[in-house]
Amino acid sequence: MDDSISVTQVDVAIVGAGPIGLCFANALSRHGVSSVLIDRQSRSAMVEPASDGREIALTRAAQQILDKLGVWSRVEPAERARMRAAKVFDGQSLFAMEIAPGASRNEPLGCLVPNQVIRRAAYAALPAGSMDAGEILWRDEQQIKRFEANDAEVDITLAGGERLQASLLVAADSRFSTTRRAMGIPAHTYQHGQHMLVCRMHHEEPHDQTAWEWFGYGQTLALLPVDTHCSSLVLTLSPAEMEKQLSLSDEDFDADITRRFGGRLGAMRRVAAPHRYPLVSVYAERFVGHRQALIGDAAVGMHPVTAHGFNLGLQGLSRLADLIGEARARGQDIASPTLLARYQREQRLATAPLFAATLAIVGLYTDDRTPARWLRKAVLRAGEVAWPARRLIASHLTRSIG
Ligand SMILES: Cc1cc2nc3c(=O)[nH]c(=O)nc-3n(C[C@H](O)[C@H](O)[C@H](O)COP(=O)(O)OP(=O)(O)OC[C@H]3O[C@@H](n4cnc5c(N)ncnc54)[C@H](O)[C@@H]3O)c2cc1C
Repeated sequence: MDDSISVTQVDVAIVGAGPIGLCFANALSRHGVSSVLIDRQSRSAMVEPASDGREIALTRAAQQILDKLGVWSRVEPAERARMRAAKVFDGQSLFAMEIAPGASRNEPLGCLVPNQVIRRAAYAALPAGSMDAGEILWRDEQQIKRFEANDAEVDITLAGGERLQASLLVAADSRFSTTRRAMGIPAHTYQHGQHMLVCRMHHEEPHDQTAWEWFGYGQTLALLPVDTHCSSLVLTLSPAEMEKQLSLSDEDFDADITRRFGGRLGAMRRVAAPHRYPLVSVYAERFVGHRQALIGDAAVGMHPVTAHGFNLGLQGLSRLADLIGEARARGQDIASPTLLARYQREQRLATAPLFAATLAIVGLYTDDRTPARWLRKAVLRAGEVAWPARRLIASHLTRSIG
């Protein structure tokens, strides 16, 4: 590299200023650790992010992390939808397994917040660190061209030609992370061969603050409660079926969705533009490299059916930021192999079982052959009978940290 070009020094370089990258920079700043956020989007797009149709179900532990980072207080009460319980249906059967917190706990199962609101609040909550401690620099509308890690730091060259030097390079650039690939970290990738459509629907009947997950044959449907007569529709279909669905007129679309839900919530009407996501799950083979780490979807890109991607990403960034903060306080290297190995060990333990369980659920509920149909009915009945099993799921969703 040409040493005559001026070089910006920073503790941590973060590629990707999505909700995870933003919260990570925030957490580092609170530990007096400086960072630079590199994103190909413009900052104006982050101040007021566009809607992407996602409603994020947040666990209590996630809400606590957001609270610590000053993000939660920037989410207006009207932007938080309480989820009292969840019902899981199979096929045309009216039988449902209901998941709710224990009767003694007068608390919701979870809380739903639009992703665009989380992104807006995460940006607004970034602390203004001082020049010597916890400063957050920005390189928006930028990408990394190349990087090289040596014993003491990572040398980074941006597409615009600027050079940066950081003790640690962190990839937070989505499940399709190009930085992860450039780090030489392979990932297990599962193409589910299905597309997911999300959009808000108005319905005649109230939803009683209950989320519905409905595994029909050839389709998976979910409704997430937003307002008394408004829910977020989540529809999973094959790419060809999705193409047909999106070509329907507004009227036909509404009639079709009302029919798919068997009229259980009365007539339904679309009230926001639909967004479509090809379903791909990703689990990186390693979460760390030499002075390198992966966080958020770049490390674990969950299938949305169990609503855990962002929740797990928050736990991970908070774990890594705390380890870095402790090392800084002791005057140690913030990217030592021991520190990174510990982050990897703990984060894999926290994510691998849920990732595997989610893949198993997706496999079971998208397989319409007869044995799978029997098995899922049995699983639902067993779950309904086995109170401890349901309590376990509910307590996982409502568990606090610490
Ligand atoms: C339909 C749907 C519903 C979901 N529901 C839930 C839920 O209920 N609960 C839950 O916990 N999770 C949910 N998730 C998952 C959650 O949305 C993700 O886990 C979360 O958005 C991951 O955040 P991230 O910052 O890691 O990545 P992203 O949000 O993908 O952000 C990546 C950032 O990196 C930037 N970037 C990308 N490539 C580059 C590059 N080469 N150079 C520079 N910048 C780059 C992008 O511009 C973007 O700003 C859902 C996901 C979907 C699709």
